[in-house]
Amino acid sequence: MRQEPDRVDWVRCIPFIVLHAGCFGVIWVGASATAVWTAVALYFLRMFAVTGIYHRYFSHKTYSTSRAGQFILALWGGTTVQRGGLWWAYHHRHHHKHSDDPEDAHSPHVHGFWWSHIGWITSRRNFPTDYSTIRDLAKYPELVWLNRFDTVVPALFALALFGAGAALETWAPGLGTDRWQMLVWGFFISTTALFHGTSCINSMAHLMGRRRFNTSDDSRNSFILAIICLGEGWHNNHHRYQSSTRNGFYWWEIDPTYYGLKVLSWTGLIWGLKPVPRSIMEEAARADHEASIAAAQRASAVHPELSPLAKVVPAAAAIAVATATAAQADLPKKAAGPALHQNVPGQVENPPSSA
Ligand SMILES: [Zn+2]
Ligand SMILES: [Zn+2]
Repeated sequence: MRQEPDRVDWVRCIPFIVLHAGCFGVIWVGASATAVWTAVALYFLRMFAVTGIYHRYFSHKTYSTSRAGQFILALWGGTTVQRGGLWWAYHHRHHHKHSDDPEDAHSPHVHGFWWSHIGWITSRRNFPTDYSTIRDLAKYPELVWLNRFDTVVPALFALALFGAGAALETWAPGLGTDRWQMLVWGFFISTTALFHGTSCINSMAHLMGRRRFNTSDDSRNSFILAIICLGEGWHNNHHRYQSSTRNGFYWWEIDPTYYGLKVLSWTGLIWGLKPVPRSIMEEAARADHEASIAAAQRASAVHPELSPLAKVVPAAAAIAVATATAAQADLPKKAAGPALHQNVPGQVENPPSSA
């Protein structure tokens, strides 16, 4: 089916229209602190599932787990309403193989912003999963089942939220929420935000930010996207080296997905988190060094009179020369001056008054 040209399939648009339309339910159900915080918490818990499970496990196998653990992770991933883990992994591996060339399903450079953000999912050619390219995952029938019936987990998840809302309505009326609020906030609003947050990686992470590694695509590192997507914003790092569990290569490249996976590894559910190899870290250090030299050269070349370097360098050179001259100077020793400031016997400060 990937041989077909890209074409919007309107039937595939219905779930997206329903998802977005459901958000307008807020006009009738209103808001409460409980419902809003549920939506926020479910955004981050499920963003972790997209990044830590669908991306860093199913797509790249950056850590290990048991078969039961894998099934639990697949169920968690299913609540994100981003189809099955196998569909997700197949399309993501395809993206890495064809990044920013015409075959890439969602390149903003080839297809434009909106197609890479949302359009590509509505195309008939991107609907099927090619199991032949993900044999490592397709050998598990339970994963294939979850992938084939990918509406089951989302439907159960929505139902569970509705039920939880009903329970709170009955047993904790003080929280001021109800079944419809939990459905609208916990499912529709949170899932719509989650969809757009995730899609920012497809549409923005090849447009916005800095390139550390000279990869064959146009992937970039962005702090803002790292916050929205729990560490996935370090996309250029990731395109350079896909097999490590962490996408942020330094402590200041914050990567909450990695921290979460580290905590999960302490529980025994997952293990074997893969580090960034030393050779890649050395390459990163060289790239950063070259980038800082190039930036300094650009700064001094464009506006030499405004460049802070142009001011600092002569001053630093003058200080260095002066220091060296002073150290070598063989000046005559100062003769001792008159004993003006020496203590004179018999004199005391603040003599006691004679009165
Ligand atoms: Zn990419
Ligand atoms: Zn990836």
